[in-house]
Amino acid sequence: MEILLKNGWIIDGTGSSRYKSDIAIKDNKILKIGANLEGNGYDIIDVSNKIIAPGFIDMHSHADLTILEVNKAEAAIMQGVTTLVVGMCGIGRAPANEKVRNYYSNFITKAFGSSVSQLYDSIQDYMEVLKKKGVSSNLAFFIPHGNIRTYILGLEDRPSKSEELEEMKKIVKKEMGIGAFGLSTGLVYPPGSITPTSEIIELCKVVSDFGGLYDTHMRNEGTRIIEQGIREVIEIAKKSNVRAHISHLKTVGKYAWKLTHDVINLIKNAKEKEIFLHADLYPYEESSTSLSGILLNPWVYDDFEQNLTNSEARKKIVTEILDMIFSTFLSDLPFITRIIPKFLMKKLIFSSFKKDIRIISVLKNHHIEGKFLGEALKILYPKRSFYDAVLDFIRDEEGSIMISIRQMSEEKSILSLFKQDFVCVGSDGFLVIEGNTHPRSYGTFPRILSRYVREKKIVSLEEAIRKMTSLPASILGLRDRGIIRPNFKADLVIFNHQTIRDNSTYENGRQYPEGIDYVIVNGEITVEKGKHLGILNGQILKHEKIIV
Ligand SMILES: [Zn+2]
Repeated sequence: MEILLKNGWIIDGTGSSRYKSDIAIKDNKILKIGANLEGNGYDIIDVSNKIIAPGFIDMHSHADLTILEVNKAEAAIMQGVTTLVVGMCGIGRAPANEKVRNYYSNFITKAFGSSVSQLYDSIQDYMEVLKKKGVSSNLAFFIPHGNIRTYILGLEDRPSKSEELEEMKKIVKKEMGIGAFGLSTGLVYPPGSITPTSEIIELCKVVSDFGGLYDTHMRNEGTRIIEQGIREVIEIAKKSNVRAHISHLKTVGKYAWKLTHDVINLIKNAKEKEIFLHADLYPYEESSTSLSGILLNPWVYDDFEQNLTNSEARKKIVTEILDMIFSTFLSDLPFITRIIPKFLMKKLIFSSFKKDIRIISVLKNHHIEGKFLGEALKILYPKRSFYDAVLDFIRDEEGSIMISIRQMSEEKSILSLFKQDFVCVGSDGFLVIEGNTHPRSYGTFPRILSRYVREKKIVSLEEAIRKMTSLPASILGLRDRGIIRPNFKADLVIFNHQTIRDNSTYENGRQYPEGIDYVIVNGEITVEKGKHLGILNGQILKHEKIIV
Protein backbone atom coordinates (compact mmCIF):
# COMPACT_ATOMS: atom_id res chain seq x y z
CA MET A 1 0.00 0.00 0.00
CA GLU A 2 1.22 3.51 -0.82
CA ILE A 3 0.06 6.33 1.39
CA LEU A 4 0.96 10.01 1.46
CA LEU A 5 0.23 11.89 4.70
CA LYS A 6 0.06 15.62 3.95
CA ASN A 7 0.75 18.58 6.27
CA GLY A 8 0.95 16.78 9.59
CA TRP A 9 2.90 17.80 12.67
CA ILE A 10 5.49 15.10 13.14
CA ILE A 11 6.53 14.13 16.64
CA ASP A 12 9.17 11.59 15.76
CA GLY A 13 9.36 9.71 19.07
CA THR A 14 12.89 10.71 20.05
CA GLY A 15 11.74 13.60 22.22
CA SER A 16 12.67 16.22 19.57
CA SER A 17 10.29 19.11 18.93
CA ARG A 18 7.49 18.65 16.44
CA TYR A 19 7.85 19.88 12.86
CA LYS A 20 5.51 20.19 9.91
CA SER A 21 6.05 17.73 7.09
CA ASP A 22 4.63 15.11 4.74
CA ILE A 23 5.30 11.40 5.04
CA ALA A 24 5.29 8.87 2.20
CA ILE A 25 4.65 5.23 3.12
CA LYS A 26 5.37 2.38 0.75
CA ASP A 27 4.70 -1.27 1.55
CA ASN A 28 5.33 -1.62 5.28
CA LYS A 29 7.89 1.15 5.62
CA ILE A 30 8.30 4.88 5.90
CA LEU A 31 9.75 5.80 2.50
CA LYS A 32 10.31 9.54 2.75
CA ILE A 33 9.76 12.49 5.07
CA GLY A 34 9.78 16.04 3.67
CA ALA A 35 7.86 19.13 2.62
CA ASN A 36 5.62 19.08 -0.44
CA LEU A 37 6.01 15.40 -1.26
CA GLU A 38 4.06 14.21 -4.25
CA GLY A 39 3.09 10.69 -5.07
CA ASN A 40 1.42 9.44 -8.19
CA GLY A 41 -0.99 6.68 -7.36
CA TYR A 42 -0.56 7.27 -3.65
CA ASP A 43 -3.57 7.39 -1.32
CA ILE A 44 -3.38 11.00 -0.16
CA ILE A 45 -4.62 11.79 3.34
CA ASP A 46 -4.75 15.39 4.52
CA VAL A 47 -3.74 15.46 8.19
CA SER A 48 -3.41 19.25 8.59
CA ASN A 49 -3.10 20.29 12.24
CA LYS A 50 -2.93 16.69 13.40
CA ILE A 51 -0.03 15.06 15.22
CA ILE A 52 1.68 12.12 13.52
CA ALA A 53 3.52 9.95 16.05
CA PRO A 54 5.05 6.48 15.93
CA GLY A 55 2.50 3.81 16.88
CA PHE A 56 2.43 3.39 20.65
CA ILE A 57 4.19 0.44 22.26
CA ASP A 58 2.31 -0.98 25.23
CA MET A 59 5.15 -2.24 27.40
CA HIS A 60 2.90 -4.39 29.58
CA SER A 61 -0.15 -6.20 28.28
CA HIS A 62 -2.02 -9.41 29.05
CA ALA A 63 -3.49 -9.42 25.53
CA ASP A 64 -1.86 -12.77 24.72
CA LEU A 65 -4.29 -14.58 27.04
CA THR A 66 -7.22 -13.89 24.70
CA ILE A 67 -5.87 -12.37 21.48
CA LEU A 68 -6.57 -15.56 19.59
CA GLU A 69 -10.25 -14.93 20.31
CA VAL A 70 -10.07 -11.10 20.15
CA ASN A 71 -7.63 -10.86 17.25
CA LYS A 72 -8.62 -7.34 16.16
CA ALA A 73 -7.37 -6.17 19.57
CA GLU A 74 -9.73 -3.19 19.40
CA ALA A 75 -9.05 -2.05 22.98
CA ALA A 76 -5.39 -1.50 22.12
CA ILE A 77 -5.54 -0.47 18.46
CA MET A 78 -8.19 2.20 19.08
CA GLN A 79 -5.77 3.86 21.55
CA GLY A 80 -3.07 4.03 18.88
CA VAL A 81 -1.18 1.02 20.25
CA THR A 82 0.52 -0.84 17.41
CA THR A 83 2.77 -3.14 19.46
CA LEU A 84 1.75 -5.14 22.52
CA VAL A 85 4.39 -6.57 24.82
CA VAL A 86 2.89 -9.80 26.15
CA GLY A 87 3.47 -12.83 28.37
CA MET A 88 3.74 -10.56 31.39
CA CYS A 89 3.70 -11.19 35.17
CA GLY A 90 4.89 -14.75 34.66
CA ILE A 91 1.63 -15.76 32.96
CA GLY A 92 1.04 -16.87 29.38
CA ARG A 93 -0.44 -19.49 27.03
CA ALA A 94 2.92 -21.09 26.32
CA PRO A 95 5.05 -23.06 26.99
CA ALA A 96 2.85 -25.72 28.57
CA ASN A 97 2.83 -29.40 29.45
CA GLU A 98 0.29 -31.34 31.52
CA LYS A 99 1.43 -29.73 34.79
CA VAL A 100 1.09 -26.26 33.32
CA ARG A 101 -2.33 -27.12 31.90
CA ASN A 102 -3.50 -28.22 35.33
CA TYR A 103 -2.11 -25.08 36.92
CA TYR A 104 -4.00 -22.94 34.43
CA SER A 105 -7.31 -24.73 34.78
CA ASN A 106 -6.99 -24.79 38.57
CA PHE A 107 -5.48 -21.39 39.19
CA ILE A 108 -5.13 -18.91 36.33
CA THR A 109 -8.58 -19.40 34.87
CA LYS A 110 -10.07 -19.09 38.34
CA ALA A 111 -7.95 -16.21 39.51
CA PHE A 112 -8.05 -14.12 36.36
CA GLY A 113 -11.40 -15.16 35.01
CA SER A 114 -9.79 -15.32 31.60
CA SER A 115 -11.15 -18.30 29.81
CA VAL A 116 -7.76 -19.44 28.56
CA SER A 117 -9.12 -22.23 26.46
CA GLN A 118 -5.98 -23.66 24.97
CA LEU A 119 -2.34 -23.65 25.94
CA TYR A 120 0.55 -24.40 23.60
CA ASP A 121 3.62 -26.58 24.02
CA SER A 122 5.98 -23.79 23.02
CA ILE A 123 5.77 -20.08 22.31
CA GLN A 124 6.62 -20.87 18.71
CA ASP A 125 3.54 -23.10 18.39
CA TYR A 126 1.37 -20.28 19.71
CA MET A 127 3.04 -17.80 17.34
CA GLU A 128 2.24 -20.07 14.37
CA VAL A 129 -1.43 -20.29 15.32
CA LEU A 130 -1.62 -16.51 15.72
CA LYS A 131 0.12 -15.94 12.40
CA LYS A 132 -2.43 -18.12 10.64
CA LYS A 133 -5.34 -16.38 12.31
CA GLY A 134 -3.92 -12.86 11.85
CA VAL A 135 -3.87 -10.11 14.48
CA SER A 136 -4.26 -6.35 14.22
CA SER A 137 -1.28 -5.35 16.34
CA ASN A 138 2.35 -6.44 16.54
CA LEU A 139 3.22 -8.74 19.42
CA ALA A 140 6.47 -9.04 21.37
CA PHE A 141 6.50 -12.19 23.51
CA PHE A 142 8.10 -12.76 26.90
CA ILE A 143 8.64 -16.18 28.46
CA PRO A 144 6.35 -16.45 31.48
CA HIS A 145 8.32 -17.72 34.48
CA GLY A 146 5.19 -19.21 36.07
CA ASN A 147 4.92 -21.61 33.14
CA ILE A 148 8.60 -22.55 33.22
CA ARG A 149 8.66 -23.42 36.90
CA THR A 150 5.33 -25.22 36.83
CA TYR A 151 6.49 -27.13 33.74
CA ILE A 152 9.25 -28.72 35.83
CA LEU A 153 8.14 -28.56 39.48
CA GLY A 154 4.39 -28.15 39.40
CA LEU A 155 3.41 -25.94 42.32
CA GLU A 156 5.84 -27.55 44.76
CA ASP A 157 6.84 -25.10 47.45
CA ARG A 158 10.58 -25.75 47.62
CA PRO A 159 13.75 -24.59 45.88
CA SER A 160 14.55 -26.48 42.69
CA LYS A 161 17.20 -29.19 42.56
CA SER A 162 20.12 -28.53 40.29
CA GLU A 163 18.90 -30.90 37.55
CA GLU A 164 15.48 -29.22 37.67
CA LEU A 165 17.10 -25.83 37.36
CA GLU A 166 19.03 -27.09 34.32
CA GLU A 167 15.73 -28.20 32.73
CA MET A 168 14.24 -24.75 33.32
CA LYS A 169 17.30 -23.08 31.82
CA LYS A 170 16.98 -25.28 28.76
CA ILE A 171 13.42 -24.08 28.17
CA VAL A 172 14.46 -20.44 28.59
CA LYS A 173 17.30 -20.96 26.12
CA LYS A 174 15.01 -22.57 23.58
CA GLU A 175 12.36 -19.84 23.80
CA MET A 176 14.96 -17.05 23.69
CA GLY A 177 16.38 -18.78 20.64
CA ILE A 178 13.09 -18.54 18.74
CA GLY A 179 12.77 -14.81 19.42
CA ALA A 180 11.30 -14.20 22.87
CA PHE A 181 12.29 -10.79 24.24
CA GLY A 182 13.05 -11.99 27.75
CA LEU A 183 11.68 -13.56 30.90
CA SER A 184 8.75 -12.20 32.93
CA THR A 185 8.00 -12.95 36.57
CA GLY A 186 4.96 -12.41 38.78
CA LEU A 187 6.47 -12.71 42.24
CA VAL A 188 3.24 -12.19 44.13
CA TYR A 189 1.47 -15.08 42.39
CA PRO A 190 2.34 -18.73 42.78
CA PRO A 191 4.74 -20.17 41.71
CA GLY A 192 6.68 -16.86 41.52
CA SER A 193 5.85 -16.18 45.15
CA ILE A 194 7.53 -19.44 46.20
CA THR A 195 10.57 -19.05 43.93
CA PRO A 196 13.83 -18.05 45.61
CA THR A 197 15.79 -15.11 44.17
CA SER A 198 18.80 -17.35 43.47
CA GLU A 199 16.75 -19.42 41.04
CA ILE A 200 15.66 -16.34 39.09
CA ILE A 201 19.27 -15.19 38.90
CA GLU A 202 20.25 -18.47 37.23
CA LEU A 203 17.45 -18.21 34.66
CA CYS A 204 18.34 -14.58 34.00
CA LYS A 205 21.91 -15.53 33.16
CA VAL A 206 20.49 -17.38 30.15
CA VAL A 207 18.35 -14.36 29.23
CA SER A 208 21.42 -12.18 29.55
CA ASP A 209 23.36 -14.37 27.08
CA PHE A 210 20.79 -13.30 24.48
CA GLY A 211 20.76 -9.66 25.57
CA GLY A 212 17.14 -10.15 26.61
CA LEU A 213 15.16 -8.38 29.30
CA TYR A 214 14.09 -9.47 32.79
CA ASP A 215 10.63 -7.97 33.32
CA THR A 216 9.16 -8.29 36.79
CA HIS A 217 5.99 -7.78 38.77
CA MET A 218 7.92 -7.30 41.99
CA ARG A 219 7.57 -9.40 45.13
CA ASN A 220 6.34 -6.37 47.05
CA GLU A 221 4.87 -3.07 45.88
CA GLY A 222 3.65 -1.99 49.34
CA THR A 223 5.50 -0.98 52.48
CA ARG A 224 8.30 -3.46 51.74
CA ILE A 225 8.79 -2.20 48.17
CA ILE A 226 12.37 -1.10 48.84
CA GLU A 227 13.85 -4.19 50.47
CA GLN A 228 11.67 -6.93 48.94
CA GLY A 229 10.90 -5.19 45.65
CA ILE A 230 13.47 -2.87 44.09
CA ARG A 231 16.49 -4.34 45.92
CA GLU A 232 15.66 -7.82 44.62
CA VAL A 233 15.41 -6.54 41.04
CA ILE A 234 18.76 -4.82 41.39
CA GLU A 235 20.35 -7.91 42.92
CA ILE A 236 19.07 -10.08 40.07
CA ALA A 237 20.31 -7.57 37.47
CA LYS A 238 23.73 -7.34 39.11
CA LYS A 239 24.33 -11.03 39.66
CA SER A 240 23.08 -12.22 36.27
CA ASN A 241 24.14 -9.16 34.29
CA VAL A 242 20.64 -9.04 32.81
CA ARG A 243 18.90 -5.91 31.52
CA ALA A 244 16.01 -5.36 33.96
CA HIS A 245 12.58 -3.79 33.86
CA ILE A 246 9.94 -3.17 36.54
CA SER A 247 6.33 -3.78 35.57
CA HIS A 248 3.55 -1.38 36.55
CA LEU A 249 5.72 0.62 38.97
CA LYS A 250 3.72 2.10 41.86
CA THR A 251 3.72 2.37 45.63
CA VAL A 252 0.71 0.44 46.84
CA GLY A 253 -1.32 1.48 49.86
CA LYS A 254 -1.18 4.79 51.67
CA TYR A 255 1.59 3.72 54.04
CA ALA A 256 3.87 3.09 51.05
CA TRP A 257 3.24 6.38 49.22
CA LYS A 258 5.89 8.16 51.22
CA LEU A 259 8.44 5.67 49.83
CA THR A 260 7.99 6.95 46.26
CA HIS A 261 11.05 9.18 46.45
CA ASP A 262 13.21 6.42 47.88
CA VAL A 263 12.06 4.19 45.02
CA ILE A 264 13.07 6.81 42.47
CA ASN A 265 16.43 7.42 44.12
CA LEU A 266 17.24 3.74 44.41
CA ILE A 267 16.54 3.19 40.70
CA LYS A 268 18.51 6.31 39.70
CA ASN A 269 21.37 5.16 41.85
CA ALA A 270 21.41 1.72 40.23
CA LYS A 271 21.36 3.34 36.80
CA GLU A 272 24.35 5.48 37.74
CA LYS A 273 26.15 2.26 38.55
CA GLU A 274 25.51 1.13 34.97
CA ILE A 275 22.67 -1.25 35.79
CA PHE A 276 20.23 -1.33 32.88
CA LEU A 277 16.93 -0.65 34.64
CA HIS A 278 13.64 0.88 33.50
CA ALA A 279 9.99 0.71 34.48
CA ASP A 280 6.51 1.20 33.07
CA LEU A 281 3.31 2.44 34.66
CA TYR A 282 -0.37 3.06 33.98
CA PRO A 283 -2.16 6.32 34.83
CA TYR A 284 -4.78 5.12 37.31
CA GLU A 285 -5.01 5.32 41.09
CA GLU A 286 -7.09 2.18 41.40
CA SER A 287 -5.01 -0.85 40.68
CA SER A 288 -6.70 -3.96 39.43
CA THR A 289 -6.20 -7.57 40.25
CA SER A 290 -7.98 -10.78 40.97
CA LEU A 291 -9.69 -11.04 44.36
CA SER A 292 -8.88 -14.72 44.78
CA GLY A 293 -5.41 -14.21 43.26
CA ILE A 294 -4.38 -11.84 46.03
CA LEU A 295 -6.30 -13.42 48.90
CA LEU A 296 -5.87 -17.16 48.54
CA ASN A 297 -2.75 -19.26 48.94
CA PRO A 298 -1.95 -21.99 46.39
CA TRP A 299 -3.26 -24.87 48.54
CA VAL A 300 -6.81 -23.53 48.33
CA TYR A 301 -6.86 -24.11 44.58
CA ASP A 302 -6.02 -27.80 44.97
CA ASP A 303 -9.62 -28.50 45.87
CA PHE A 304 -11.19 -25.13 45.33
CA GLU A 305 -14.88 -25.72 46.00
CA GLN A 306 -14.30 -28.05 48.92
CA ASN A 307 -11.76 -25.78 50.63
CA LEU A 308 -14.08 -22.82 50.30
CA THR A 309 -16.93 -24.83 51.83
CA ASN A 310 -15.28 -26.73 54.69
CA SER A 311 -15.45 -24.66 57.88
CA GLU A 312 -11.96 -25.59 59.15
CA ALA A 313 -10.40 -24.69 55.82
CA ARG A 314 -12.32 -21.42 55.75
CA LYS A 315 -10.97 -20.48 59.16
CA LYS A 316 -7.43 -21.15 57.96
CA ILE A 317 -8.07 -19.04 54.83
CA VAL A 318 -9.26 -16.05 56.88
CA THR A 319 -6.19 -16.24 59.15
CA GLU A 320 -3.89 -16.36 56.12
CA ILE A 321 -5.64 -13.41 54.52
CA LEU A 322 -5.14 -11.29 57.64
CA ASP A 323 -1.48 -12.32 57.90
CA MET A 324 -0.92 -11.41 54.27
CA ILE A 325 -2.53 -7.99 54.73
CA PHE A 326 -0.42 -7.29 57.80
CA SER A 327 2.83 -8.30 56.15
CA THR A 328 2.22 -6.65 52.78
CA PHE A 329 0.44 -3.43 53.57
CA LEU A 330 0.48 -2.75 57.27
CA SER A 331 3.91 -3.75 58.47
CA ASP A 332 5.03 -0.15 58.40
CA LEU A 333 2.14 1.27 60.33
CA PRO A 334 2.85 3.73 63.08
CA PHE A 335 3.57 1.94 66.35
CA ILE A 336 0.30 2.94 67.93
CA THR A 337 -1.76 0.99 65.37
CA ARG A 338 0.28 -2.14 66.00
CA ILE A 339 -1.04 -2.39 69.53
CA ILE A 340 -4.65 -2.35 68.38
CA PRO A 341 -6.07 -5.81 69.20
CA LYS A 342 -6.26 -8.12 66.17
CA PHE A 343 -10.03 -8.54 66.33
CA LEU A 344 -10.44 -4.78 66.09
CA MET A 345 -7.91 -4.58 63.27
CA LYS A 346 -9.86 -7.28 61.49
CA LYS A 347 -12.95 -5.09 61.74
CA LEU A 348 -11.08 -2.10 60.37
CA ILE A 349 -9.60 -4.09 57.51
CA PHE A 350 -12.93 -5.64 56.58
CA SER A 351 -14.69 -2.30 56.65
CA SER A 352 -12.07 -0.90 54.29
CA PHE A 353 -12.52 -3.96 52.04
CA LYS A 354 -16.24 -3.17 51.83
CA LYS A 355 -15.84 0.39 50.64
CA ASP A 356 -12.51 0.32 48.80
CA ILE A 357 -12.77 -2.83 46.71
CA ARG A 358 -14.75 -2.35 43.54
CA ILE A 359 -16.00 -5.29 41.49
CA ILE A 360 -14.80 -4.86 37.90
CA SER A 361 -15.95 -8.16 36.45
CA VAL A 362 -17.29 -11.55 37.54
CA LEU A 363 -18.13 -14.83 35.88
CA LYS A 364 -21.84 -15.02 36.69
CA ASN A 365 -23.50 -12.14 38.52
CA HIS A 366 -22.75 -9.44 35.94
CA HIS A 367 -25.37 -7.13 37.53
CA ILE A 368 -23.02 -6.36 40.42
CA GLU A 369 -20.10 -5.25 38.18
CA GLY A 370 -19.06 -1.68 39.01
CA LYS A 371 -20.40 -1.90 42.59
CA PHE A 372 -18.29 -1.83 45.74
CA LEU A 373 -17.74 -5.12 47.54
CA GLY A 374 -19.90 -4.31 50.58
CA GLU A 375 -22.82 -3.32 48.39
CA ALA A 376 -22.39 -6.34 46.09
CA LEU A 377 -22.32 -8.79 49.01
CA LYS A 378 -25.42 -7.22 50.52
CA ILE A 379 -27.26 -7.94 47.29
CA LEU A 380 -25.91 -11.46 46.82
CA TYR A 381 -25.63 -12.73 50.41
CA PRO A 382 -27.85 -10.50 52.55
CA LYS A 383 -27.85 -12.84 55.54
CA ARG A 384 -24.17 -13.86 55.72
CA SER A 385 -21.48 -12.29 57.88
CA PHE A 386 -18.92 -10.31 55.88
CA TYR A 387 -16.14 -12.84 55.64
CA ASP A 388 -18.50 -15.76 55.09
CA ALA A 389 -20.06 -13.78 52.27
CA VAL A 390 -16.63 -13.05 50.74
CA LEU A 391 -15.65 -16.71 50.74
CA ASP A 392 -19.05 -17.78 49.36
CA PHE A 393 -18.72 -15.14 46.68
CA ILE A 394 -15.27 -16.35 45.61
CA ARG A 395 -16.49 -19.95 45.55
CA ASP A 396 -19.71 -19.23 43.68
CA GLU A 397 -17.95 -17.15 41.01
CA GLU A 398 -15.40 -19.97 40.69
CA GLY A 399 -12.67 -17.53 41.69
CA SER A 400 -13.22 -15.28 38.67
CA ILE A 401 -13.60 -11.90 40.33
CA MET A 402 -11.55 -9.02 38.97
CA ILE A 403 -11.48 -6.03 41.28
CA SER A 404 -9.98 -2.59 41.49
CA ILE A 405 -8.92 -1.13 44.79
CA ARG A 406 -9.56 2.49 45.67
CA GLN A 407 -6.61 4.56 46.78
CA MET A 408 -4.02 1.92 46.04
CA SER A 409 -1.88 4.62 44.46
CA GLU A 410 -2.08 8.38 44.87
CA GLU A 411 -1.89 10.56 41.80
CA LYS A 412 0.94 12.64 43.27
CA SER A 413 3.15 9.55 43.47
CA ILE A 414 2.17 8.34 40.00
CA LEU A 415 3.01 11.74 38.57
CA SER A 416 6.43 11.93 40.20
CA LEU A 417 7.21 8.45 38.86
CA PHE A 418 5.89 9.34 35.42
CA LYS A 419 8.16 12.39 35.22
CA GLN A 420 11.28 10.21 35.45
CA ASP A 421 13.05 9.72 32.12
CA PHE A 422 13.37 5.94 32.66
CA VAL A 423 9.62 5.40 32.95
CA CYS A 424 7.57 4.32 29.93
CA VAL A 425 3.92 3.31 29.56
CA GLY A 426 2.32 -0.10 30.07
CA SER A 427 -1.44 -0.56 30.34
CA ASP A 428 -1.49 -3.90 32.21
CA GLY A 429 -4.69 -4.33 30.22
CA PHE A 430 -6.66 -7.31 28.97
CA LEU A 431 -8.58 -7.95 25.78
CA VAL A 432 -11.80 -9.08 27.36
CA ILE A 433 -14.21 -11.38 25.57
CA GLU A 434 -17.24 -10.39 27.65
CA GLY A 435 -18.08 -8.38 30.75
CA ASN A 436 -16.42 -5.28 32.11
CA THR A 437 -12.71 -4.49 32.39
CA HIS A 438 -10.48 -1.98 34.21
CA PRO A 439 -10.55 1.33 32.27
CA ARG A 440 -6.79 1.07 31.64
CA SER A 441 -7.42 -1.61 28.99
CA TYR A 442 -9.15 0.99 26.79
CA GLY A 443 -7.83 4.30 28.10
CA THR A 444 -4.20 4.26 29.24
CA PHE A 445 -2.51 6.08 26.34
CA PRO A 446 -5.14 8.77 25.60
CA ARG A 447 -5.52 9.36 29.35
CA ILE A 448 -1.85 10.22 29.66
CA LEU A 449 -2.07 12.57 26.66
CA SER A 450 -5.17 14.32 27.95
CA ARG A 451 -4.78 14.31 31.73
CA TYR A 452 -1.02 14.28 32.32
CA VAL A 453 0.08 16.28 29.28
CA ARG A 454 -2.75 18.62 28.26
CA GLU A 455 -4.34 19.30 31.64
CA LYS A 456 -1.55 18.89 34.18
CA LYS A 457 1.43 19.65 31.91
CA ILE A 458 3.57 17.09 33.76
CA VAL A 459 5.74 16.49 30.70
CA SER A 460 5.70 17.90 27.16
CA LEU A 461 3.75 16.15 24.45
CA GLU A 462 7.05 15.22 22.80
CA GLU A 463 8.36 13.61 26.01
CA ALA A 464 5.12 11.71 26.59
CA ILE A 465 5.30 10.35 23.03
CA ARG A 466 8.93 9.32 23.60
CA LYS A 467 7.79 7.32 26.64
CA MET A 468 5.23 5.55 24.44
CA THR A 469 7.53 4.88 21.46
CA SER A 470 11.33 5.12 21.20
CA LEU A 471 11.92 4.46 24.91
CA PRO A 472 10.13 1.09 25.00
CA ALA A 473 11.58 0.26 21.55
CA SER A 474 15.10 0.79 22.88
CA ILE A 475 14.39 -1.17 26.08
CA LEU A 476 13.13 -4.08 23.98
CA GLY A 477 15.86 -3.74 21.38
CA LEU A 478 13.48 -3.02 18.48
CA ARG A 479 15.68 -1.45 15.85
CA ASP A 480 13.15 -0.36 13.25
CA ARG A 481 10.15 0.79 15.29
CA GLY A 482 9.33 3.56 17.75
CA ILE A 483 10.76 6.42 15.67
CA ILE A 484 9.48 8.18 12.54
CA ARG A 485 12.44 7.84 10.24
CA PRO A 486 12.94 6.63 6.64
CA ASN A 487 13.19 2.85 6.41
CA PHE A 488 11.58 2.36 9.81
CA LYS A 489 8.38 0.28 9.88
CA ALA A 490 5.28 2.35 9.17
CA ASP A 491 3.54 1.98 12.54
CA LEU A 492 1.87 5.36 13.02
CA VAL A 493 -0.88 7.07 14.95
CA ILE A 494 -2.52 10.32 13.89
CA PHE A 495 -4.46 12.29 16.48
CA ASN A 496 -5.72 15.68 17.52
CA HIS A 497 -3.74 16.68 20.60
CA GLN A 498 -6.40 19.18 21.66
CA THR A 499 -9.25 16.69 21.74
CA ILE A 500 -7.71 13.29 22.42
CA ARG A 501 -9.17 11.78 25.60
CA ASP A 502 -10.07 8.51 27.28
CA ASN A 503 -13.71 7.61 27.89
CA SER A 504 -13.43 4.35 29.80
CA THR A 505 -14.50 4.33 33.46
CA TYR A 506 -14.48 1.83 36.31
CA GLU A 507 -18.22 1.29 35.83
CA ASN A 508 -17.90 0.97 32.07
CA GLY A 509 -14.36 0.08 31.12
CA ARG A 510 -15.13 -0.84 27.53
CA GLN A 511 -15.41 2.56 25.92
CA TYR A 512 -13.12 3.70 23.14
CA PRO A 513 -11.18 6.93 23.44
CA GLU A 514 -11.73 9.89 21.10
CA GLY A 515 -9.51 12.20 19.09
CA ILE A 516 -7.56 9.45 17.30
CA ASP A 517 -8.16 9.55 13.57
CA TYR A 518 -5.84 7.02 12.01
CA VAL A 519 -3.78 4.08 13.16
CA ILE A 520 -1.41 2.51 10.65
CA VAL A 521 0.16 -0.89 11.37
CA ASN A 522 3.03 -2.05 9.14
CA GLY A 523 1.90 0.33 6.41
CA GLU A 524 -1.79 -0.66 6.45
CA ILE A 525 -4.49 1.73 7.60
CA THR A 526 -6.14 -0.18 10.45
CA VAL A 527 -8.16 2.65 11.98
CA GLU A 528 -9.70 5.21 9.63
CA LYS A 529 -11.59 8.27 10.88
CA GLY A 530 -11.86 6.64 14.29
CA LYS A 531 -13.20 3.29 13.01
CA HIS A 532 -11.40 -0.07 13.17
CA LEU A 533 -11.40 -1.49 9.63
CA GLY A 534 -10.80 -5.09 10.68
CA ILE A 535 -7.33 -5.12 9.09
CA LEU A 536 -5.06 -7.85 10.51
CA ASN A 537 -1.58 -6.63 9.60
CA GLY A 538 0.22 -7.09 12.92
CA GLN A 539 3.46 -9.04 13.01
CA ILE A 540 4.91 -11.39 15.57
CA LEU A 541 8.17 -9.63 16.40
CA LYS A 542 11.35 -11.55 17.03
CA HIS A 543 14.03 -10.42 19.42
CA GLU A 544 17.43 -10.06 17.82
CA LYS A 545 20.38 -10.83 19.97
CA ILE A 546 21.76 -7.70 21.59
CA ILE A 547 25.44 -7.77 22.30
CA VAL A 548 25.91 -6.01 25.61
ZN1 LIG B 1 1.47 -7.76 37.20
